[in-house]
Amino acid sequence: MSNSKDSHIRKIRKLEAEAIQLDPSSQTRTELQKDVLRYSNDFLDNLSNLPTYNQDGYDLDSFAPDEFIDEPTSADKLLKYVEDHVHQPGINAASGGHMGFIPGGGVYTAALGDYLAAVFNRYAGVYFAAPGAIKMENALIRWTGKLLGYAGDFAGNIASGGSIANLIAITTARNAHGIRGKDYEKTVIYYSEQVHHCVLKDLRVAGLDECVLRQIPLNRSYQMDAGILEKQILEDRASGLSPFLLIASAGTTDSGAIDPLDRLGDISREQNLWFHVDAAYGGYFMLTEEGSKKLNGIAKSDSVVVDPHKGLFLPFGTGIVIVKKASHLRHAHDFKANYMQDTDSFDQELSPADASPELTKHFRGMRMWLPLRLHGIAPFRACLDEKLELARYFYREINLLGFETGPSPELTVVLFRKTDERRNENEINQRIARRILEDGTVFLSTTTINGVFWLRVAILSFRTHLREVDLMLDRLREFSQAN
Ligand SMILES: *Cc1c(COP(=O)(O)O)cnc(C)c1O
Repeated sequence: MSNSKDSHIRKIRKLEAEAIQLDPSSQTRTELQKDVLRYSNDFLDNLSNLPTYNQDGYDLDSFAPDEFIDEPTSADKLLKYVEDHVHQPGINAASGGHMGFIPGGGVYTAALGDYLAAVFNRYAGVYFAAPGAIKMENALIRWTGKLLGYAGDFAGNIASGGSIANLIAITTARNAHGIRGKDYEKTVIYYSEQVHHCVLKDLRVAGLDECVLRQIPLNRSYQMDAGILEKQILEDRASGLSPFLLIASAGTTDSGAIDPLDRLGDISREQNLWFHVDAAYGGYFMLTEEGSKKLNGIAKSDSVVVDPHKGLFLPFGTGIVIVKKASHLRHAHDFKANYMQDTDSFDQELSPADASPELTKHFRGMRMWLPLRLHGIAPFRACLDEKLELARYFYREINLLGFETGPSPELTVVLFRKTDERRNENEINQRIARRILEDGTVFLSTTTINGVFWLRVAILSFRTHLREVDLMLDRLREFSQAN
């Protein structure tokens, strides 16, 4: 008996000796940190000389086959692999030259927060497990909500991004209005043509794509036409349908247009609609005086989404949903399970697990809290004001270069295109976009609105300053002349 116990212990010890490699010694940690820090510091020190876009590396053949083998590989070798195969190809999203889609940049101090969160590995799903972490996340949500003008008993969740945050809001709205499958046929949802596609995806995920979906036309500034909306709601009621949800955009991705939030808020109240605002892009402009005027009415919403990985320049993976009545959010998401019974009595604070589909989650609050406290809020506000000015600057200068422009920028997206009566304009502009990609110094993206092909810049990376905007203008001057 004791013999067999001894041999069992020997077996366990042998496994332990090998498993313990997963827990590096202080000395090994220091060496690994040095390697990683040297690599990341070199990257940041050279960033302004690196291309913003690199077309190479898209063919799978150029990838060295990655090996998952029993033996360890040196950090040097792995970092080299990352440099060649991950950092080089595609969009350099950390670069200030990135003005495509909606950039953010990824402030460095957030990476330090991520590092700490991963090292502690606090279980940020339930209050019982990590009261400090949950209080921190809820404080960030409260700060964001107050910034948007929310007061009283609101609550939210720090999700992975705007898409999941919008899904949480839509699910909450459905539950709050008690809408069941059998009601879908008569239930109406309103949004503009310019709603972000993730909202439509979320409706599908929630099963709500079986409702009556009303795409409200835009006015000349690409905002939802509130007059048409109002008429549509009345018509729908008259024909026996049930208007349920109005989804507005506060900063559309295509053009940065802000739907008339104040008016839409009033219509929603009069018509008993759930009013959701997707402010993933525009929300944090509330930090600026200009933004808070333009987003007037956002506080009339029942739920709202903002993306700190856009407007607060955090690394990708952070989107916040806020719901005006905490109970609505909780009722749509909380759940009990026997193996979670020990956590039940600890619910003074709303736990993230009761406010989202997630249970185990990354402690995302840490990456947001550390930068906000380390830098203070002022540089974030200045950075957003700088972007508003840069967008106006770009708009003026691109006009002077002879490009046609879309509406004057509401936030920091500018639409523009080269016009030529004698030639196919869409083709000309596609060629300019291609030349920018091939060149790679700076990056922009394109869109099509009402069949018209537009070049667009979105100035939101915290590293986009006058230098980068001038570089963009230089390239556009060069490539439009070459046509
Ligand atoms: C980016 C964006 C989204 C989607 O958010 P993700 O964080 O990419 O999931 C939704 N709405 C708007 C207006 C956006 O700009």
